[in-house]
Amino acid sequence: MLHYIDVILPIPIQKTFTYSVTEEEALFLKKGMRVAVSFGKSKMYSALVFNIHQTKPTLYEAKDIHQILDETPLVNELQLKHWQWISAYYMCSLGDVYRAALPSAFLLESETIINKNETFTDESVLGDDEFLIFEALHHQSQLTIYQVADILGKKKVMPIVNSLIKKSAIIVKEEIYEQYKPKLVKYVRLHSEFSSDDSLEKLLTELSRAKKQREAVLTFFQLQSTKKPIKAKDLETKANVSASILKSLVEKNIFEFYHIQTDRIQFKGDTNSLKVLNEFQEKAFSEIKESFKEKDVVLLHGVTSSGKTEVYTKLIQEVLDQGKQVLFLLPEIALTTQIITRLQFYFGDQISVFHSKYSMNERVEVWINVLENKTKAQIVLGARSSIFLPFSNLGLIVVDEEHETSYKQFEPSPRYNARDAAIVLSKLHNAKILLGSATPSLETYFNTQQNKYGFVVLNKRHGNVLLPKIELIDVKEKQRKKEMKGHFSDRLLTLIQDALDLKEQVILFQNRRGFSPVVECKTCGVSPQCPNCDVSLTYHKFKNELRCHYCNYQRAMPNSCGACGSNTLDSKGFGTEQIELELKELFPDFKIGRMDLDTTRGKHGYQKIIGAFEAREIDILVGTQMLSKGLDFDNVTLVGILNADSMLNFPDFRAHERAYDMMVQVSGRAGRSKKQGNVAIQTYNPYHQILQQVSTTNYTEMYKEQLQERWQYKYPPFYRLIKITLKHKDYNKVDSGVNWLFKALYSAFGEHVLGPTAPAVSRIRNQYIKNIVIKIPPKQSLANTKNQLSKIKNTFEAVKDFRPIRFIIDVDAY
Ligand code: ADP
Ligand code: ZN
Ligand code: ZN
Repeated sequence: MLHYIDVILPIPIQKTFTYSVTEEEALFLKKGMRVAVSFGKSKMYSALVFNIHQTKPTLYEAKDIHQILDETPLVNELQLKHWQWISAYYMCSLGDVYRAALPSAFLLESETIINKNETFTDESVLGDDEFLIFEALHHQSQLTIYQVADILGKKKVMPIVNSLIKKSAIIVKEEIYEQYKPKLVKYVRLHSEFSSDDSLEKLLTELSRAKKQREAVLTFFQLQSTKKPIKAKDLETKANVSASILKSLVEKNIFEFYHIQTDRIQFKGDTNSLKVLNEFQEKAFSEIKESFKEKDVVLLHGVTSSGKTEVYTKLIQEVLDQGKQVLFLLPEIALTTQIITRLQFYFGDQISVFHSKYSMNERVEVWINVLENKTKAQIVLGARSSIFLPFSNLGLIVVDEEHETSYKQFEPSPRYNARDAAIVLSKLHNAKILLGSATPSLETYFNTQQNKYGFVVLNKRHGNVLLPKIELIDVKEKQRKKEMKGHFSDRLLTLIQDALDLKEQVILFQNRRGFSPVVECKTCGVSPQCPNCDVSLTYHKFKNELRCHYCNYQRAMPNSCGACGSNTLDSKGFGTEQIELELKELFPDFKIGRMDLDTTRGKHGYQKIIGAFEAREIDILVGTQMLSKGLDFDNVTLVGILNADSMLNFPDFRAHERAYDMMVQVSGRAGRSKKQGNVAIQTYNPYHQILQQVSTTNYTEMYKEQLQERWQYKYPPFYRLIKITLKHKDYNKVDSGVNWLFKALYSAFGEHVLGPTAPAVSRIRNQYIKNIVIKIPPKQSLANTKNQLSKIKNTFEAVKDFRPIRFIIDVDAY
């Protein structure tokens, strides 16, 4: 009897591939185990077993496998089903999904490069072959799997490499990764017993003979008048005492130490009981549970600072008590150190964090922990790629900030939306899924109105703090009356000054889009362009250089204009950097911070800035988009939006919805505890309907109006969109390709095919780009449409001239 397996290869070929195995191997193998196979001329891959059967392939001779890499499946059957859905829905190969799903250490192939793990010391655990490789890495800093085969004089080396990885003796080389090990800063506060004034006096008399300790306590009170958290180090310096003096005060229960940042991976310390829900949260909580009885998907529409996180934690606790796993999805993990800390506060080391920026070892560890359903991995907190983890027993998925665009992967394939893929995942597990947002996406809200999803509202801020007062400032009028100072209106400056006078903090928001500071020649009007892309270069004052935001090309700022030779190059524009400079002049006595792509680039860039702002070391924080995301600062009472118009005038069918989301979300950072906050929005169009809706936080009105437009112009949620992009370095090739394609699509789908168009930036990295959009009407079958599209794509790729053109399909391309 002959035995065969179909495997998924980690490359973008459409089909699975069949290999032959012995009877013994067939008995041992299970779906989801990896095998090393050769494919093509001489390449080796870690392939994944998808099927075990006895049907000989008809089109080719099945090769033998090299060897089996796993003893038990690394991927479970639920995952395989999920991958099949992703591959069918997003029109990509299973290989694409396989590659996206597994940490790269599991995807060894002949070209994989390995390095020694410098922290590994225990050589005694290595087998002979393993030791030989480890030794070789002393002399040669890196080896490919090919070279490993050479050294050992055998072909079948993947299990050896595999085992070296498991023992942490080697690491697989990767471009970038960050480890989450933020520095701990120690702060001092008074023990709760001593907060009242009379106990203080008692305290000082008590310490009358311990001079140094008394000094420390007195200095502490001086520093406390600034209302800022007090660093242990600062107190030592200012009071001129040693660390041991502070320590003895802590031992006497007079002071206590605390940290603002805590390490998120290795959680040490106690867990705390959940907060008691307020009456509105309690109501939402029971409504969600009620709704879950009928519906698998529920939307929690909770205004900013209503305490959605507290509601999630209650649900999570219940699911954990049933012995099930929880997946908590976050849009961009770098920004969510706060949520991690908050959840760890309750659930301690039952939480694992998973993120593509983690080091390989950390990701492998989380994968294995989830696979083995370890205590450590009962709750997984992660960005979009964590939907691929090997859950076997999910009870609940929470999708926080479900409206966020970063749930969508645009590049590379699979171009999936993690929220939508999570809904499918929850179905496979018979689990429930809760979507949460203060500004739900139109599609999700529409589904609640259609009764497809359950719907729960939470419209009170915790502590009954009112939503911020939002005022619109008419910049045109301010300019006419000469009441603008640089980019600031007099009104906004007054509000900033008032907040600073009360020792409160301020956030200023500058939309990134359309406001890159571009250099322009005042004589001839020409702007320096990127040589590889169809865009102007952006000026970076700090390094005095010009950069391309698409391909990272950079050059020094020239002294004279390349076109006319005059030395009249002017960096106009309105970047965050410019704003920061103006603020420094306007408020010289205050600390200004900036959070944008530049300042957050380095390791822990975000955490440093967020940490400093939390610690009140920064008074005014200027930033872009990043600032709008779920951050919770308790001392911010003013949010300023410097120019709302750039968000409104963007040519995209979601521009208005997004502008609303963004403004409501940033506004939501103001006045989150105790006191009502203020929001000031500067605009040239104070009567724009979106700004009116933002100023009254009227989501339903925004929804109704936008939905009307979506219907009128044939957009989601009514019509579905598939976007096709062609790319090639030869303009004429792309052009003739796209014209051919358009005709073919037009004869299949008629008027619902739009294009071909060139995007706003029509050349990136020397590749010319053309787009076609297919709109799918409500009654047209999605599956049929995709089938036809696949056929047309195959015909396209069969034309020799078109073959080198990149053909990208993006389903739900928004
Ligand atoms: P959201 O995610 O809805 O914007 P958060 O969950 O961040 O709101 O809550 C806002 C703030 O209010 C947080 O600092 C949180 O700790 C606090 N908070 C919310 N609910 C409660 C509660 N029931 N008891 C105590 N504090 C709460
Ligand atoms: Zn470029
Ligand atoms: Zn010029």
